[in-house]
Amino acid sequence: MSTDRSTGDIPQRLPQEAPLGRTEAARVDTDRPAAPDPASAALRVINDAPLDEAARHLAGLYEHSPWVVEAALRRRPHASLAGFRHALATAVREAPREARLALLRAHPELAGRLAASGTLTPDSTREQQAAGLQACSAEELARLRQLNADYGARFGWPFILAVRGPRGTGLSRAEVIATFERRLAHPADVEFDECLRQVHRIAELRLDALFGLEPRLGRQVWDCAELLAQHRDDPAGPLTVTYLTPAHQACQAQLRHWMRDCGFDEVAVDAVGNVVGLYRGTDPHAPRLLTGSHFDTVRDAGRYDGRLGIFVPLVAVRELHRAGRRLPFGIELVAFAEEEGQRYAATFLGSSALAGDFDPAWLDQRDAAGIPMREALRAAGLDPAGIPRLARRRSDYLGFVEVHIEQGPVLDALDLPLGVVTSINGSVRHLGEFIGQASHAGTTPMGRRRDAALAAAELGLYLEGRAAREPGLVGTVGVLEVPGGSVNVVPGRCRFSLDIRATVDAVRDACVDDTLAAIDGIAARRGLRHTLREVLRVPAAPSDPLWQARWERAVAATGLPVHCLPSGAGHDAMKLHRLLPQAMLFVRGGNAGISHNPLETVTGEDAQLAVEAFQHLLDHLAREGTPPP
Ligand SMILES: [Zn+2]
Repeated sequence: MSTDRSTGDIPQRLPQEAPLGRTEAARVDTDRPAAPDPASAALRVINDAPLDEAARHLAGLYEHSPWVVEAALRRRPHASLAGFRHALATAVREAPREARLALLRAHPELAGRLAASGTLTPDSTREQQAAGLQACSAEELARLRQLNADYGARFGWPFILAVRGPRGTGLSRAEVIATFERRLAHPADVEFDECLRQVHRIAELRLDALFGLEPRLGRQVWDCAELLAQHRDDPAGPLTVTYLTPAHQACQAQLRHWMRDCGFDEVAVDAVGNVVGLYRGTDPHAPRLLTGSHFDTVRDAGRYDGRLGIFVPLVAVRELHRAGRRLPFGIELVAFAEEEGQRYAATFLGSSALAGDFDPAWLDQRDAAGIPMREALRAAGLDPAGIPRLARRRSDYLGFVEVHIEQGPVLDALDLPLGVVTSINGSVRHLGEFIGQASHAGTTPMGRRRDAALAAAELGLYLEGRAAREPGLVGTVGVLEVPGGSVNVVPGRCRFSLDIRATVDAVRDACVDDTLAAIDGIAARRGLRHTLREVLRVPAAPSDPLWQARWERAVAATGLPVHCLPSGAGHDAMKLHRLLPQAMLFVRGGNAGISHNPLETVTGEDAQLAVEAFQHLLDHLAREGTPPP
C-alpha cells in the first residue's frame, strides 16, 4: 500500500441521499435522528393485524388480484419484508398457469385507452405519471399505441413494466419505449416469465410506497455503479474500461476518493493498479477480513459485474464509520484492477498479485497497439518491480469474501435476491479441428461425403447430452467455424472449441475424457482426421465450508430462504482460493440474469439486501471473537 498518486479531476463524492424522484412520497434523511422504523411498522401490519384487515390494507399490491396477498398472508409470520415479498412471488409461482395469465391480464396497457379515459387504478395512474407517460409527444403516443397493439396480438396479454425502474425513481420515456421494443422480440414463455417478474417488482415498489420504505443503502450502491459507469475508454461509447487506460485511472481516482469518504483509514493504489482500503479494527494485530472484486469491464459491459463487490462493502464500512464502530478485526477492501483479460491475454492480474501468482512474463505481453504491459504500468505511474511484494501472507487474514452479481438466470427464476456460492466451477478448454474432404455440393452423394462441419455438429450434440446428464456440469462448443465456407461446397474443415466446467474437477474430467473419446469415434465413423489441443485447465474452487456457512447465516438473517448454487463464471475469489479460505455471495441480476451486456441490472432493493447480508456477516464474525483463520 505504498503507491499513492495524485489525481487529476476532483472526483465526485459518494452519492449522498440525493433528492429522489418527484413522485417519491417518503424520504429518509440520514442525518436526522431516525424516525420509528417503517420496516418494523410494515411487518407488524403484515404479521399481527387480523387477516382480513391486513389483506385489505395490502390489496393494491397486485392489480385486481387480492388472492396473491391472501396466499402470502396465510403463510405468516414472515421474518422480514424480504421474506414476505418472497412469499408473494412464491404464491404466484405455485398458482396454475390460468391464474398467472389472469394476473397479467388484470394490468392496464401502458399509456393505453384506460389511461386516456382516466379509469386506471390509482396506483397505476401514479406509476404511469411517474414515467412521464402522461407527457408523451404525439409521436411517442403513436409509437406506444402501435407497440401495445403488436404486443397484444403477439402474446395475448398487456405489456407489463415497472416503470419506476431498478432504482425505484422512474425510467425515462425513451427507456420505456426501448424496453418495450426489445421485449416484443422475446419468445412467449420468456416474456411471460419476465412480465411476472415485473409484476413482483411493481408490488415491491408499491409496498415501499405504502409504508414509506426506502432502500437507502441499496440506492447508494446503485448510484455508485451509475457514477463509476460514466468513465469509459470511449467517452461517447458503451461502458468499456480496460486495464490502465485513462478511464481506468479515473475509476481508480474515484474509488480512492470514495473509500476515504467512507472512513477507510488507509487508501492507496498498489503496484498492479488495485485500489486498496483498510478500515482498522480495534486490534491492529488481529487477522483482517479481505474482500473486494474487480472494476475493469468487458467491452460493452454491464454496470455491476465486479463493481457490486466493491460498493457493497464500501457502503457497509461507511455505516460502521458513521456509527463510530470498530470491529475486532480490520476490513481490507480491494478494488481489483483487472480480471477480464480484455487488454492483455492474461486475466485476473489484480487478484493474482495478491495471491502471489503474478507471472512476471505477463509484463512482456503486448496489447493490440503493441504496448507492453510493463510500459503501460509505468505510463500509469506504477512500478512493475513492486508487484511481487503485493503477495499477501496467509496468517494476516481471516479469509476472503466476494459479493458478485450472479450473471445467470437461477436466482431471478426463483424470485430470490441472494444466493450463496458452493463452488466456482473448474474449467478445461480445448481448440480443435475436423479435417475431411471439401467437395461439390451438387455431385457428391450423401453416402460419400466427409463433411467436417457435420462432425462438429455431432460433437456439439454429444456434449449437450453428456453434460445435461449430471447436475453442476456444463459443456459448450462455442466456436464452430468452416474456414472459407461456401454455399455450394461440402465443408472440408471445421474448427471447434470445447469448454467444459463443473463444480467438481473429477466430474468435469470424466466428461472431458468421454468427449475426447466421442471425437475419436465421430472422426473414425465419418472418415475424418482431427487435431485437438488443451488450452486451459483451471481447478474448481469449492467454497470453504465455514465461510459458506457464514454467508448462509447472513442470508437467513435477512429473512430470506437460503439458496446455494455453484458459480459457472470465474471470479477473483478463485485466485484468492490458493491463499485463503473463501466464499461468495451472489446477488440476483434482472432481465433473466443477463450479464456482460448493458442490460445487466440490479434493483436498489436487492442491493440493499446485499449490504444487509454483508453487515450481518460482519456482525456475526465480530461476535465470534477472533476465530482461528
Ligand atoms: Zn466479474
